[in-house]
Amino acid sequence: MTDQSKLTAQSAGTCPLCGKANGCAGAAGRSHAECWCMNEIFPQEILKQVPKEHLGKACICKECLEAYKRNGG
Ligand SMILES: [Zn+2]
Ligand SMILES: [Zn+2]
Repeated sequence: MTDQSKLTAQSAGTCPLCGKANGCAGAAGRSHAECWCMNEIFPQEILKQVPKEHLGKACICKECLEAYKRNGG
């Protein structure tokens, strides 16, 4: 259980789906308004795959979003 908060803290810059860097501006210390994810639409279905504790904290990476769209999103 204690591992979970650690995971959440280190995961702001990590994609919750693949575990790679998500390139989020917020995680890099910049304004989240500058983040590429602000200009993207994240379908509800892909957000459902994000563990609840990461939802709204860590961005899904572009790779996962593109892969989802390619696979019939
Ligand atoms: Zn990813
Ligand atoms: Zn972001």
